[in-house]
Amino acid sequence: MIYRLLAKFNDDFGLFVFFLYLAAFILAFLMVFIFPPGALALMLLGLIGFVGVWLIVVIMRFFERILARKALGDDRCPCCTVASALVVTPSKEWDSVVCCDGCGQLFESGGRRIQAEDEEEDDPEDDL
Ligand SMILES: [Zn+2]
Repeated sequence: MIYRLLAKFNDDFGLFVFFLYLAAFILAFLMVFIFPPGALALMLLGLIGFVGVWLIVVIMRFFERILARKALGDDRCPCCTVASALVVTPSKEWDSVVCCDGCGQLFESGGRRIQAEDEEEDDPEDDL
């Protein structure tokens, strides 16, 4: 449950930050005419905010991987919590890839979720 919330957060956080900065840009643009120092302050705040955003991304992905490794170690899928449905295959890119039969989600041995497109890119037969 916590893992799924964390995974959803990590998936949507980039878009959230994009809209936050878009809103800040519009606000700063309007401030140029009303209160010019405010626009400068917003710009500096936005630049400093990048460090905070980066820290949040690193920390939240770190916790997501810890939870995923813990669940995979217990032989259950972190996404759908289906037991005994994991298929482990060796991979040339990662040590091993764990695939869930229940939801089809792929994980690398470090706990990172692998998007299905990443795997298909390796397959040259898809181009035909
Ligand atoms: Zn699953």
